[in-house]
Amino acid sequence: DHVANQIAAGEVVQRPASVIKELLENSIDAHATRIQVVIKDAGKTLIQVVDDGVGMSVTDARMSFERHATSKIKLADDLFSLKTKGFRGEALASIAAIAHVELKTRRAEEEIGTCIKMEGSQVVSQEACVTPKGTCLSVKNLFYNIPARRNFLKSDNVETRHIIDEFQRVALAHPDISFSLTHNNNELFQLPPSNQRQRITNIFGGKTNEKLVPVEEDTGIVKVSGFVGKPEFAKKSRGEQFFFVNNRFIKSPYLNHAVVAAFEGLLKDKSYPSYFLYLDVDPKSIDINIHPTKTEIKFDDEHALYAILKSAIKHSLGQFNV
Ligand code: ADP
Ligand code: MG
Repeated sequence: DHVANQIAAGEVVQRPASVIKELLENSIDAHATRIQVVIKDAGKTLIQVVDDGVGMSVTDARMSFERHATSKIKLADDLFSLKTKGFRGEALASIAAIAHVELKTRRAEEEIGTCIKMEGSQVVSQEACVTPKGTCLSVKNLFYNIPARRNFLKSDNVETRHIIDEFQRVALAHPDISFSLTHNNNELFQLPPSNQRQRITNIFGGKTNEKLVPVEEDTGIVKVSGFVGKPEFAKKSRGEQFFFVNNRFIKSPYLNHAVVAAFEGLLKDKSYPSYFLYLDVDPKSIDINIHPTKTEIKFDDEHALYAILKSAIKHSLGQFNV
């Protein structure tokens, strides 16, 4: 079902940044504490993600490229209490359909690892190999067999921007994990394990620290943490606006509106507040299954969330006399 894989690939993989997102999520699901990303030519020639997570057995390594093979859902019921990021078992199969993929992986409890090379959904080689504990996935020549898609990719600058956006979202969502990103041998980010505030400043620069106002709230419905930027630092663009729900970056025009409403009267025209807001909710009260790229979420009780968020931010802004 090579064709089915290519079609599925179109849904999952729009550009190099989509590959990065899927690989980073897999590393996080594998409990990595350190994740290194290396790209060449904006990811068009190489995307490599190296983690120190749990790794895979020989069988799991081989299975990982099968469509709908996921080790993450044991019961249908798990779908409703998703703790892991992946759950469809589609990413690796899709990526392997449209790129040259090399997997090296080893579990801590095994001495020898597995190396598998894939090309257009075919296994071209599989052997035992010496490799560190964890997983190294290299994706080369993305869309090599779909010239139309390859030609459709934007300039290296634009594709790199998308990669950096994706990388930052994941790094912000997981401040306790160490991340690095290297492009054509230039180290763009080197992020040590830290907390939310430090991670934000490590990504956006030291000056960011002075503009952050902490937001904290804990109700039965949601636990809110994170920061909003002081109004005088509001931007001319929407660059620094982030919501994370259960450690997953999401877009929500509705919740964005709640933040903007909390800033009412404090912002100049056409300026956008910065925010880095982390919401923890009962996984049963959200539906993240509505979009293949999973950046949108449906909440059971959005009105309550809106009100809680708005009032928590207003309270914080008031306390810090801004
Ligand atoms: P999903 O994440 O939806 O399960 P994927 O296609 O992304 O599907 O991955 C397939 C399977 O490969 C995963 O369920 C997991 O068992 C294994 N896997 C993928 N990446 C890693 C990794 N970095 N470390 C350990 N196991 C991994
Ligand atoms: Mg996955």
